[in-house]
Amino acid sequence: MDGQPARQQDTCSFDDEEPPGKPKRHPLWRKVPKKLWDDWRWQSQNAIRSVRQLRDLLPFNPDELEAIGKLEAEYKLAIPPYYFSLINVADPNDPIRLQSVTSPLEANSNFELEDPLEEDKDSPVPGITHRYPDRCLMVTTHVCTMYCRFCTRKRATMVRGGWDAISRDDERMIEYVREHPQIRDVIVSGGDPLTLPPAKLKYFLHSLRDIPHVDVIRIGTRVPTTLPQRLYDPEMLDILESTEKVWIQTHFNHPREITPEVARVCKSLLCRGMPLNNHTVLMKGVNDDLATMRKLMRALLRVKIRPYYLFHCDPVIGAGHFRTSIWKGLEIMEGLRGHLSGLAIPTYVVDAPHGGGKIPLLPNYLVSASDDCVVLRNYEGMLVRYQAEDKPTTIEETANRGVSQLIQGTKTAIVPPDSERMQRRRQYLQTKKAKAEEESASCCDAHEEPPPAKNGRRRLTPLPVVS
Ligand SMILES: *Cc1c(COP(=O)(O)O)cnc(C)c1O
Ligand code: SF4
Repeated sequence: MDGQPARQQDTCSFDDEEPPGKPKRHPLWRKVPKKLWDDWRWQSQNAIRSVRQLRDLLPFNPDELEAIGKLEAEYKLAIPPYYFSLINVADPNDPIRLQSVTSPLEANSNFELEDPLEEDKDSPVPGITHRYPDRCLMVTTHVCTMYCRFCTRKRATMVRGGWDAISRDDERMIEYVREHPQIRDVIVSGGDPLTLPPAKLKYFLHSLRDIPHVDVIRIGTRVPTTLPQRLYDPEMLDILESTEKVWIQTHFNHPREITPEVARVCKSLLCRGMPLNNHTVLMKGVNDDLATMRKLMRALLRVKIRPYYLFHCDPVIGAGHFRTSIWKGLEIMEGLRGHLSGLAIPTYVVDAPHGGGKIPLLPNYLVSASDDCVVLRNYEGMLVRYQAEDKPTTIEETANRGVSQLIQGTKTAIVPPDSERMQRRRQYLQTKKAKAEEESASCCDAHEEPPPAKNGRRRLTPLPVVS
């Protein structure tokens, strides 16, 4: 240490959380009656859909305006007033704004692709992607409540040449699932399936429900994030509940997206028997720092959503500016696992090109190995010998040091001396000792010798702390 006090920024505490305040509104909609504001139809009808509208709501410089005006013809734009109101208008790099408002950077594309996951190539019938043995993806619509600027299926949300042009045959999609008994899990996606007219949604969900080999119907949706009001509608909730097999796959990327409105919707979905799991996309400027990611994961748990996947941002055309290095993802995972409740830990995945599918990545916890044991690392940096099988050691004892000592078995762990856990342990020990001394007048603890090693196996020395 250089004598400077360590920077005390405990991002694990709730202190710096924004208080759960009243729903915010952009001044434009301040006078809208609550009844309308809470009505998804009003939200949808009043969504910001043009650069002309944006100009009146947010500060832009003239170059930006010209650039995003041109992009209007390329990619669809829609931001419901509710979601728009989460933007801090004073911050041009606001994470909610970056996700929803067109950026001039969308015009730059280096090596990004229209269909990076080659979903269209793994498609036996239009609308279905069947890549994994027991599950498939079903695209039911190209409509979304908000068009995410980073969308993997941006090709579908483009104005021209998008999926508007492709005709899906809904019956053929259902038929495909019915004819393939190996399919146990159908991911109903889009676009956003919760934008479908209720009758259409019911057709998809109930048809799938009635296929005996389908155990799980997952609905991938950003409606809880961008238009939670849609799920205030009992008709919608009834359709979902009566399907019985539904799991909801939410998509939250920033802690500020988790509002009292979201909490309300999560409660209804859970009450009606739907487990909630979340996808997050790792994005530059939105959530590519540990503090934000920790806040997001904790906020999700508070509304009982289980973090499921953290996606590396796909190389999708028009979204290259959101991409981070893989190291950034690993750095974040290193700061989550062990530090936060295990329930708060998503799996970090890269969706591989050429339809390779999701591949998990994580920091290295396996440090070394021998025929006898492995050396593992925990989140504190402790290195520990772990013998998985009950068999005699085969290694000859040799003068040694470091990790090799763990392999040899002359030491069982190397522990960072300043870890909080070790400090706590020392404190427990002191308290125990003090108590024992108090009581020692009446009691005499016999210090038992540990039992001798069985079968002549070499005994491992008890945990010496190496400093
Ligand atoms: C993500 C995905 C799935 C589901 O994968 P899980 O790992 O089971 O969540 C299924 N099919 C396709 C094409 C996918 O992209
Ligand atoms: S809601 Fe989903 S499909 Fe629609 S734009 Fe956002 S990420 Fe893409």
